[in-house]
Amino acid sequence: KSGFISIIGRPNVGKSTFMNRVIGEKIAIMSDKAQTTRNKIQGVYTQDDAQLVFIDTPGIHKPKHKLGSFMVNVAEQSMNEVDLVLFMVNAKEGFGRGDEFIINMLQKVKQPVFLIVNKLDQVHPDELIKIIDEYRTKYDFAEIVPISALEGNNVDNLLKLMVEQM
Ligand code: GDP
Ligand code: MG
Repeated sequence: KSGFISIIGRPNVGKSTFMNRVIGEKIAIMSDKAQTTRNKIQGVYTQDDAQLVFIDTPGIHKPKHKLGSFMVNVAEQSMNEVDLVLFMVNAKEGFGRGDEFIINMLQKVKQPVFLIVNKLDQVHPDELIKIIDEYRTKYDFAEIVPISALEGNNVDNLLKLMVEQM
């Protein structure tokens, strides 16, 4: 199984920490899907017969700025060129305006979206449940997965769910 994955989310939610934890050595791309000019390969995860290619998609890293409809369009198209979108949020901060921007954009994305609630090591379980319930009302996520990218909690489970999605 193989597929392309994009990780989106506000700055400092833990995207790079997650990538560093998951990505081993970069190896040859086995996927038959061509890399598009819009999207850059960031890293590849391989295990047994599974390969997940992480893609850096443009246009959604500056949710603070008011983007024109053209930029939003480019971002939406990029999301539709991957097989799975990971929308990462910070469990400690909860729903914010930057998240709202991203969720509005995701409304036009046809691909499955996982909500990754990162930094679970920093919140009480009751608080985590509240945050998850808040996000759940905003979008129809294919999966909601709390993790700690820093400590590694539940990351193996997330990898399993991603492979299953391919
Ligand atoms: P990015 O901007 O989304 O790429 O976020 P980074 O990966 O650079 O992480 C921002 C900060 O959050 C860094 O100081 C990380 O060490 C910290 N961080 C990332 N993941 C976790 C986590 O699961 N738990 C805790 N406590 N801190 C984390
Ligand atoms: Mg980063």
